[in-house]
Amino acid sequence: MGSDGRDMTGERLRFDVITLFPDIFPGVLGVGVVGKALERGLIRLVTHNPRDFTHDRHRTVDDAPYGGGPGMVMKPEPLYACVESLGDPPPLKILLSPQGIPFNQALARELVSRETRIALICGRYEGVDERVRMGLIDLDLSVGDYVLSGGEIAAMAIIETVARLIPGVVGDMESVDTDSLERSRLKYPQYTRPAEFRGMIVPEILISGNHARIDEWRREESLNRTRVRRPDLFACNDPVENGK
Ligand code: SAM
Repeated sequence: MGSDGRDMTGERLRFDVITLFPDIFPGVLGVGVVGKALERGLIRLVTHNPRDFTHDRHRTVDDAPYGGGPGMVMKPEPLYACVESLGDPPPLKILLSPQGIPFNQALARELVSRETRIALICGRYEGVDERVRMGLIDLDLSVGDYVLSGGEIAAMAIIETVARLIPGVVGDMESVDTDSLERSRLKYPQYTRPAEFRGMIVPEILISGNHARIDEWRREESLNRTRVRRPDLFACNDPVENGK
């Protein structure tokens, strides 16, 4: 492993996605900056189907819930066998779940600084047998307080968020570092040409050429916007910084 965390192939982070629908991938991950990083081998994405780890004729991965009730539950054996086949180094094992801890930008930063391999286990149907949570995974993550039909969209959201924090994935790291939610702030409003559009005018300061004043304007807009739209985030900022 090199000093920048890359292995000998140049790969910085590998994602293993455990899914009953591997054909969905790479999906949106195949385009844009993340798609290019996949092409260049800076990140790697490998899918694994728990069905390939079943031993019956029907390749059964789900069964009715004990105690009755609607739907089907994903069986533990194929998921354990699938994840345990991932080898060395063992990945960080994440279960996607609406019951998980909320995924956010700070956690994405933590993952990118710490991990070289992440496995994402996508549930389907009524979810997974509780023993997957009890004995197989390191972390369960939710992408929001709503229920998806499966973990695949959640996995893609997490992969995209984490991948774009890897140096070299986005061309200009300043753009990533000043993104909304970095440093508990929302980004300042942005404009491009034309200077006037349907009666809406670009703030004069932005065409003044005075970069010190532009920086100050942006900082204030960023703080105001955060205070109004996301008071929860604003409260996380340094009070001295907020009051300046
Ligand atoms: N019956 C489960 C419950 O009430 O907790 C929900 C199952 S959901 C229909 C099927 C799968 O979608 C889950 O096992 C999980 O992998 C994924 N999923 C749904 N919503 C999610 C969310 N907000 N975050 C992450 N994964 C989610």
